[in-house]
Amino acid sequence: MGFKVCTRPVGGGYPLLASRGCPEFCTYCPHRILAGYRMRSIANIVDEMERLCDQVSRPYVIFRDPLFTEQRDRVVELCDEIMRRGLKLTFEAETRLDRLDVALLDKLHAAGFRAMSFGVESSDPTTLKKSGRRPVPLVPGAIAILRAHRQRTRGKRMLVGPDFTDHGFVFHQPDGSWLTPGVVSQTFLRRVGRYELPRLTLHGLRHTWATLALERGIHPRVVQERLGHSTIAITLGIYSHVSPTLHDEAAQLIADVML
Ligand code: SF4
Repeated sequence: MGFKVCTRPVGGGYPLLASRGCPEFCTYCPHRILAGYRMRSIANIVDEMERLCDQVSRPYVIFRDPLFTEQRDRVVELCDEIMRRGLKLTFEAETRLDRLDVALLDKLHAAGFRAMSFGVESSDPTTLKKSGRRPVPLVPGAIAILRAHRQRTRGKRMLVGPDFTDHGFVFHQPDGSWLTPGVVSQTFLRRVGRYELPRLTLHGLRHTWATLALERGIHPRVVQERLGHSTIAITLGIYSHVSPTLHDEAAQLIADVML
């Protein structure tokens, strides 16, 4: 890599959108709430860049995508197309550090990438709680499954060889790069179908867990904190269907004591 300190040129740059929205799930972010994630085609984006190059000498492009490197293959394709057309421009973008790797940065830099913006996670527990980030304790069985998974992936990494890049992900693509949320959700749905289970989405597991927890008498405050709801009223409102069962059980418990 050959990065240097770089600032926007005087006068700014030319804003451009390659995608809108964001498929990630940061609770504090408006992008995921206000619009679905959608992308322009690579040809369409680079056509616009080419027209800009025809009108302006060496333009500086500011990609306004909320998460520019969400899809690694797409970014590589974009860089390749910029270079194939020989466009003389530079650009910046916003992204997340866990959506970057050295090979991708090299590719971006070769295409003209000169600056990036990214968020930094707070380490303050109060701030983390306010933004819906919280540690979730794992049951011992899950830890054993994760250890077995690590052993399996180590073997697969050796088979992939030098093409594998370790980004520290527990679950990843064969080359070590990240899995997009959509891939995980679709894989889950396929498994549900394969085993002929009742149709359930990945997100539905969350509701299943909460319903079972409340039915088993786990205190709503604990369920609220595990789900990351900001107030207990939200938890009780969403899972109000569990209340009749709880009322019946409470009535029975008191009856057992009194009678
Ligand atoms: S990754 Fe960035 S843009 Fe996407 S939801 Fe999180 S904060 Fe928002």
